[in-house]
Amino acid sequence: KTPVPSDIDIAMAQKPKPIKIVAEELGLFPSEFELYGPTKAKVNLTVLDRLKHRQDANYVVITGITPTPLGEGKSTTCIGLVQALGANLKKVAFACVRQPSQGPTFGIKGGAAGGGYSQVIPMDEFNLHLTGDNHAVTAANNLLAAAIDARMFHEATTPNDETLFNRLVPAKKGVRKFSDIMIRRLQRLGIKETDPDTLTPEEKRRFARLDINPETITWQRVMDTNDRFLRKIMVGMGPQEKGRTRETGFDIAVASEIMAVLALTTDLKDMRERLGRMVVASNMAGEPVTADDLGVGGALTVLMKDAIKPNLMQTLEGTPVFVHAGPFANIAHGNSSILADRIALKLAGTSGLADDDEPGYVVTEAGFGADIGMEKFFDIKCRTSGLVPNAVVLVATVKALKMHGGGPEVVAGKPISDVYSQEDVGLVAKGCANLAKHVQNARKFGISVVVAINKFSSDTQAELDTVKRAAIEAGASAAVVTDHWARGGAGALDLAKAVVDVCNTSKREGGASFKYLYDVNLPIVDKIETIAKEMYGADGVELSDVAKSKIQLYTSQGFDKLPICMAKTHLSLSHDPKLKGVPMGFTVPVRDIRASVGAGFLYPLLGEMQTMPGLPTRPCFYDVDLDPETGRVSGLF
Ligand code: ADP
Repeated sequence: KTPVPSDIDIAMAQKPKPIKIVAEELGLFPSEFELYGPTKAKVNLTVLDRLKHRQDANYVVITGITPTPLGEGKSTTCIGLVQALGANLKKVAFACVRQPSQGPTFGIKGGAAGGGYSQVIPMDEFNLHLTGDNHAVTAANNLLAAAIDARMFHEATTPNDETLFNRLVPAKKGVRKFSDIMIRRLQRLGIKETDPDTLTPEEKRRFARLDINPETITWQRVMDTNDRFLRKIMVGMGPQEKGRTRETGFDIAVASEIMAVLALTTDLKDMRERLGRMVVASNMAGEPVTADDLGVGGALTVLMKDAIKPNLMQTLEGTPVFVHAGPFANIAHGNSSILADRIALKLAGTSGLADDDEPGYVVTEAGFGADIGMEKFFDIKCRTSGLVPNAVVLVATVKALKMHGGGPEVVAGKPISDVYSQEDVGLVAKGCANLAKHVQNARKFGISVVVAINKFSSDTQAELDTVKRAAIEAGASAAVVTDHWARGGAGALDLAKAVVDVCNTSKREGGASFKYLYDVNLPIVDKIETIAKEMYGADGVELSDVAKSKIQLYTSQGFDKLPICMAKTHLSLSHDPKLKGVPMGFTVPVRDIRASVGAGFLYPLLGEMQTMPGLPTRPCFYDVDLDPETGRVSGLF
């Protein structure tokens, strides 16, 4: 048996097709894509209009059991499955994946292009700058951050209301006019007058003074680097800022609300509205202050106008992949973009005219375990898009199930015990309780589940059979062993066939069984409780005083009808990362609740959430280098 080479060696050995060919194979017109070099293209949103009559392809979400440091292989399985559907079964099959952050690529985790013979290529471009979308998010986020501090400075140093108003609405060639963005603010304030010179002094004051309460600012600066020393900083230390210092901090770029907006937006107009209504703070009267109040919503949209177009790449086997948006999976919803899924569903869809015109497949990946990523996929992403999925693929590995069954912790990513490489059917069987809970959770949404057992070379037949049995007993429609990491699409044929069967049944039924977990119109606390009880198996929730006051605040501000995006550890079904398997008899503490009003969700914090990762003593970057002779990159994985 020949060993499988390293991810980067496999990726580099395969010469990608020109992306223009991939686009043409999909039937895209030359005016519908923009090349970013030979291997990447952006697809214009106009294609949605041209193909609006088409029936959607099958829509499949990939999720996993509770993650362990041993790695489950969701991305790898996503790519393996579309390779099998596309290259082997000759269907039109798209993978829709998130764009990774450079933080983890150089930090602890490494890249996210899949692995082995199931990868997106070129993987160095995938894991690094791609087409600059993360940079656009960073630029937009930081423009807004700068706008907040500058505005507070100017309001503080201009005590006279009339002077402040005149500086905001200066006369140009003798004429004073409100800009379109200013008219938005007037409308929000309920001021009908649109001639600057006829506003009353009180109206001028209300218009010009945002009166931001610095204690309530939730907007941070971001950058796409794991830089722990920026977690808490003082700004305004220069003498020109006249002592107006303030404690703030940096988050990793993908934690920006703008990234969540990019992932959830449905068109340019919608993105403009979402970016404008993002709330950055409250004013002294407790009312929300938005990006449009600061006058920056339009500029943010301009910075994001190209980022909104999904990026087309390909798998090792030449099938199409959309890489688009990478929102943080805890404080945001951790799913790739609605727009990429929508365009893929049309491109792989059917005209609905010919009988033999079979719909293709769109396989999209949800981050973290199913209790988080899949729940948010259904309750936030599908609720926003209105799309109805046809199947859930739940990825499990024998190794990870052993850990859920009571296997020892791993140190620095390496197992310290050989239970993970030697047969132990009893341990696997015990760990299958975690798999069963996730299968049952998926069934609560009315969607059928295929369990994909991602095979490692050390797994034994008895162990694999144990997982299969447990999956079927828990209510999965099928459970298949899949070997795409070692064999590419050919190794995932059984998985692909099982997915085709489940999708055929779902399509026949018209997706009628799909339902959300909760009604968004319920009170905030009821929504949180439903997720905690139904998904995590908690007895209930316990709200801190801060969380209670936030519920009051958001209800009074009219944000209580938003869906809930739980910020919980992914390492346990509970809020305690140490509890493996299926924890019971616990109450979930809700420490705080925050709002991403532009993205469109409230996020309760169930523990300390790290929004700026750090670098370990030995980061991944130690392995990354480049051959100056050939330009070839090494050490990325
Ligand atoms: P996830 O999406 O669940 O985080 P990935 O698909 O990114 O996991 O896989 C994590 C790592 O595990 C990758 O480096 C990948 O190459 C490796 N991996 C995945 N499946 C297998 C397998 N069956 N055998 C060996 N290594 C694997």
